[in-house]
Amino acid sequence: MDFSFTEEQQMLKSNVRKFLDSEIGPVVDEHEKKGPLTKKETTDFISQLMPFGYLLGFLPEDCGGSQLEAKTNGLLVEELGRVWASLAGTIFIAAGFWWLLNEAGNSDQKKRLMPLAASGDYIGCLAITEPDVGSDVSGVKTTATLKGQHYVMNGTKTWISNGTIANAAFVLATTDRSLGALGMSFFLVERDQSPFDSRELHKLGLRCFPTSELSFSDCKVPKENLLDPGTGYKRTMAFFDVSRAMLGALCSGIAQAAIDASVKYAQERMQFGKPIGSFQMIQEMIVDMVAETEASRLLAYRALDLLDKGQKCRWQSSLAKAYATEAAVRTTSKAIQIHGAMGLSDEYPVERYFRDARTLTIPDGTTQMQKLVVGRDITGIRAMTGL
Ligand SMILES: Cc1cc2nc3c(=O)[nH]c(=O)nc-3n(C[C@H](O)[C@H](O)[C@H](O)COP(=O)(O)OP(=O)(O)OC[C@H]3O[C@@H](n4cnc5c(N)ncnc54)[C@H](O)[C@@H]3O)c2cc1C
Repeated sequence: MDFSFTEEQQMLKSNVRKFLDSEIGPVVDEHEKKGPLTKKETTDFISQLMPFGYLLGFLPEDCGGSQLEAKTNGLLVEELGRVWASLAGTIFIAAGFWWLLNEAGNSDQKKRLMPLAASGDYIGCLAITEPDVGSDVSGVKTTATLKGQHYVMNGTKTWISNGTIANAAFVLATTDRSLGALGMSFFLVERDQSPFDSRELHKLGLRCFPTSELSFSDCKVPKENLLDPGTGYKRTMAFFDVSRAMLGALCSGIAQAAIDASVKYAQERMQFGKPIGSFQMIQEMIVDMVAETEASRLLAYRALDLLDKGQKCRWQSSLAKAYATEAAVRTTSKAIQIHGAMGLSDEYPVERYFRDARTLTIPDGTTQMQKLVVGRDITGIRAMTGL
């Protein structure tokens, strides 16, 4: 393992942290009590954060980005995760939309859509999961059938991040079931041109991060909106290599917030005439939290560093995601314990950190699916098909 952060990256991290603590942190609680962010609220936050490289920083310069390294993006995601994981999730998925366009779009598709990216107002989502298709992505049932100049799309997608606020979705659908994964492609479905229904799904954590069910009923999608035919499954897996490492960084941020809150509380809360931080069992919990968070961070940035070097990082990203999300659950749970009853109250942020961390063990592949990926790559033996 061989990586370090440049002076520029460290300065960006410190500047972002200052901004997030002063401008974003103070409004988090009021939004989290209200629920999913509206489109306007989302784009307002995005416009404040874009100058730091959020949303488009990873794109090449000719697409409006600044070609930030994956590690730099990880730092941005981690810092936002420390302050507001819901917003980090929303922006990460909105960025994922542009990532997929950049990776798989043809020149006409990029020429038409990329100019919309710069405003930060055009929100996208990635629709893969279906009511009957979760861990096994190869079983996608949504169909797209070519009829004249359009594909006619039918199916339901569920738990789609940003679905209710999205201007457009990249929808994974099959054009030929007999081809299995090779018959699957992404389609660009633009809401104003190809209307689809969406409804919000309530969940335990990440309450401001919209997650939605999308329904496509004879939805007409122009045939030129098909993205790189037959590569939908492969592109999904490539996205996961990035997103899983990023989720490792995001969870390191949530866990760090839980540590910071716990240290402060342990210094201030008095019992038996002493600060509770003077009790060895409290210190032990804090040390365990620090150890697991440091390990999460190292795993996440190791995977991101491999991405920066253009090397394969499949099992490293899966390991980062599996470890960091589960470690963040343990760490945020300990933070609640350190806060006693106040840890369960929404007057303190640690119950939110716990709910948010707990929510993240599921998306982009559950902990169990990540372990199957790591197990396969380490042993060379597939525990199951379809991975
Ligand atoms: C906050 C959030 C955001 C999301 N955002 C998106 C999004 O933007 N786009 C999108 O397409 N989807 C999204 N999802 C959906 C997410 O990717 C799926 O929920 C996830 O892949 C798991 O699928 P499932 O919920 O259907 O669980 P299932 O696949 O039904 O799994 C249920 C249980 O069975 C276990 N299991 C399944 N197969 C195996 C196996 N072979 N061996 C061992 N255990 C197994 C799982 O680990 C899990 O414990 C999101 C979900 C959440 C919670």
